[in-house]
Amino acid sequence: MSLTHDYSAAEIVLSTLTQVIDGQDAESRSGERFIRESPAHRDLQVSSVPLADVADVDAAVSAARRALEGGWRLMAGSERAKLLHGVAELIRRDAEHLALMETLESGKPISQARSEVDSTAELWEYAATLARHNVGDAHNSLGADTFALVVNEPVGVVGMITPWNFPLLIVSQKLPFALAAGNTSVIKPSESTSSTTVMLARLCREAGIPNGVVNVVTGDKRVGAAIVEHPGIDMLSFTGSTGVGRGIAARAGSDLKRVELELGGKNPQIISEKADLAAAVDAAVFGGYFNGGQCCNSGSRLIVHTSIAAEFAQAVAERTSLVAVGDPLLASTRIGSLVNDQQLETIERYVREGVAAGATLLTGGSRREGSSELFYEPTIFTEVAPGMSIANDEIFGPVLSVMPFSTIDEAVRIANATDFGLSAGIWSDDITEALTAARDLRAGTIWVNRWMDGYPEVPFGGYGASGIGRELGRQALAEFSETKTIQLQVGARATRWVDAPDQIGALGGRGA
Ligand code: NAD
Repeated sequence: MSLTHDYSAAEIVLSTLTQVIDGQDAESRSGERFIRESPAHRDLQVSSVPLADVADVDAAVSAARRALEGGWRLMAGSERAKLLHGVAELIRRDAEHLALMETLESGKPISQARSEVDSTAELWEYAATLARHNVGDAHNSLGADTFALVVNEPVGVVGMITPWNFPLLIVSQKLPFALAAGNTSVIKPSESTSSTTVMLARLCREAGIPNGVVNVVTGDKRVGAAIVEHPGIDMLSFTGSTGVGRGIAARAGSDLKRVELELGGKNPQIISEKADLAAAVDAAVFGGYFNGGQCCNSGSRLIVHTSIAAEFAQAVAERTSLVAVGDPLLASTRIGSLVNDQQLETIERYVREGVAAGATLLTGGSRREGSSELFYEPTIFTEVAPGMSIANDEIFGPVLSVMPFSTIDEAVRIANATDFGLSAGIWSDDITEALTAARDLRAGTIWVNRWMDGYPEVPFGGYGASGIGRELGRQALAEFSETKTIQLQVGARATRWVDAPDQIGALGGRGA
């Protein structure tokens, strides 16, 4: 596989996909389908996918329940590990096809899609190791006649609903971990980027994962809602916008259903005057524009010491002018197209609001000519004040806001002054300053003198409006497990209280 191969739109043919339910390729019960066009190449039809309804979700949930009870729940971790490793191998085998579909459906550059697929395989490999280390706890100091075991059990059937920005990676932050813990799944990918999730389910089948363990239903938010409301789903794992996440959490709350949420971000990078500025400029450009800024971890707020703010913004603008925006099928492209018209309208609205509120537009701020209207210039605002919407809201586009600070305490206050708390960073060669900020920043991930690196081994998730729960790392097993305590009597129990009323007092207060 060449990592520099360019494609041309003329080579692309329409892919016709099905759902995967109970291990079978499945049309929707209604027979309806929908078409995804490439956002980067107007009128280029990329995929045709079934439009599911409640009946399809019912069938998928039933299949997942049968598979759970039919053996998957009790399968040895070593067997599950072999299967997860097998999926990783098949992902690597089909990497180029998966990357191409990601690019065609999302508009992201092919080079970034390739690295996303590689990271996806690593997630499956890591989760395989956890499948063999799902250990509980034992207590032998509860009294002479008592042992207690604490065991992890699968939660059951997990409904997974995913967004469009990293379709294959995000489903793989959930699925292999849930499978390692012994759960089965019903997955709904974004209607904009369904294909690679269907392809993944086929690879699971090819790797030998039993029918019904991995089910994929395709469609829009109505299908998502059918999963959320389904009484046969034991847990919901959702990645997407904070607004939709709130609604899912409310419904899960009223149904008392387990829920894990990975939501939006408005992530600050603090740049101290004691930082390696060349490295910080590089991270500002990468962190702001990676995936066209359509990234939950975008470092879209640059909080810069006032003594270097103007110089820093200028350096970021100069670097920005070198970023290649354009056809995502070319290996040299760094920013592809936005995912859809709605995303473009959102960005344009925020840019208008930023200008109206008095921020200075240093560079960008408009569309760029291309094969569709969805190419947007990387954009930088300076003189951004904390109350402005461009400082507070997740824009989900290539828009950076530069905000000055005088003291590190003030920088941390500005950084923490949003509802979000997904990730945050500090650039400083002063170790005390860096660690103090890392201590006080309120976010699930803090980067010190780096930005946006991720590892399957370390947990990921957000504070506040950025979510509930954690994915990845050893902790992911707990996220997808129920805890059960088993108490064991050692030796004969002397009396029963019905025969010896004087014992009742002795039992009072234990587990009452
Ligand atoms: P979205 O919330 O619009 O949609 C996400 C998924 O939910 C889609 O599959 C959609 O069909 C489904 N959905 C929409 N409404 C629903 C409803 N009422 N009930 C059930 N399902 C519903 O998000 P998006 O635009 O696809 O993705 C962008 C968002 O995702 C951004 O806010 C981004 O920050 C967030 N995101 C977060 C992370 C993270 O790990 N924290 C990662 C990637 C993206």
